[in-house]
Amino acid sequence: MYRDTRAKVSLGAIRENTAEIRRLMPESAKLMAVVKADGYGHGSVASARAAAQGGADHLAVAYLEEALLLRSKGIELPILILAPIHPSEVMLAIRHQLMVTVTHAEWFRQMAPYREPLCKDNLRVHVKVDTGLGRIGLRTKEEWDELVPWLQWDFIDVDGFYTHFATSAREDTAFLRTQLAKFLEMKEWSRTSGIEARHYHCAGSNAALRFPELAMDMVRIGAALFGFYPEQLVSGIHLRPALSLYSRLIQVKQLRKGECIGYDNSYVAEEDEWIGTVPIGYGDGWSQSLQNTEMLVEGRRAQVVGKICMDQLMIRLDRSYEAGTEVVLIGSQREERVAITELALHAGTVSQEISTSLSSRVERIYKE
Ligand SMILES: *Cc1c(COP(=O)(O)O)cnc(C)c1O
Repeated sequence: MYRDTRAKVSLGAIRENTAEIRRLMPESAKLMAVVKADGYGHGSVASARAAAQGGADHLAVAYLEEALLLRSKGIELPILILAPIHPSEVMLAIRHQLMVTVTHAEWFRQMAPYREPLCKDNLRVHVKVDTGLGRIGLRTKEEWDELVPWLQWDFIDVDGFYTHFATSAREDTAFLRTQLAKFLEMKEWSRTSGIEARHYHCAGSNAALRFPELAMDMVRIGAALFGFYPEQLVSGIHLRPALSLYSRLIQVKQLRKGECIGYDNSYVAEEDEWIGTVPIGYGDGWSQSLQNTEMLVEGRRAQVVGKICMDQLMIRLDRSYEAGTEVVLIGSQREERVAITELALHAGTVSQEISTSLSSRVERIYKE
């Protein structure tokens, strides 16, 4: 690519973060590396390989397409698809040895006619139960009882039984404990029905790092692979951010007091000021909600002024700089650092929304 704006992804960080998390988990627990949404914006294939080198046993993605991409690149680890697939796509899942999430008997009823009768391979499923996130999963004993006969079918291999927490980033653990209690109760349903899943699992990154005792048979780690975790709530581990983002000034000019910057005259110079233009905008996923955040130029902070445009934004500089001077949007420069968490806090979101939003127009450059 010819642009000055590029993201650097440290494969070493992903590999070492995975290994760090592995060390913190009980030895018997498997580590499922979640690389959905193109590896949280870091590249799913490269992230999956780095996580595997760091000790990941399984992978997970949200959608069938994402799993097929990993298989097409020669990745052979077991892969779980976290969102239900269309029942009519069952043979694709089997042919590519993908594990699917099931939540309801109705899915099996619709799937059955699509199973090719001569197919000798089993379908590996993970049953998803909803204990309080309210997203997907079965909730009642009646739904479970309806599902059981399908799970007893020879063709079905129950590899997992799982739930997902809603409040694992919150300091207050009351709701998490309620969800855990509900999960343990539902796990008993499975035992008493004679359905023994190979892996019972509930913890994503935050729950696993904060409470390794919740690891059970497997942890599903996404955010933390990339160094996103609530540092203030986690002890005994240090993870490194894998992503940094760079650009260069493409123009520098002096503005007189009272002159304007940006669409809708969204910024008016308070005094004579130096303004630099940086070639990144909301068309790259650098949202307008990042207006007023800061980036680094020669180790000094410079604030985004005016509305962020589709392809460019403007920053207020402390003096004149040459066009071509490097700008760090995420990462360190000299003694200063802009963490993705700082940007997320400003925009009222989470780090992974910023990383997944970076569009394909921003080239990812991989380094060890
Ligand atoms: C995305 C996702 C994860 C990974 O969560 P992180 O907080 O990023 O570790 C785990 N489980 C499910 C069901 C998910 O959808």
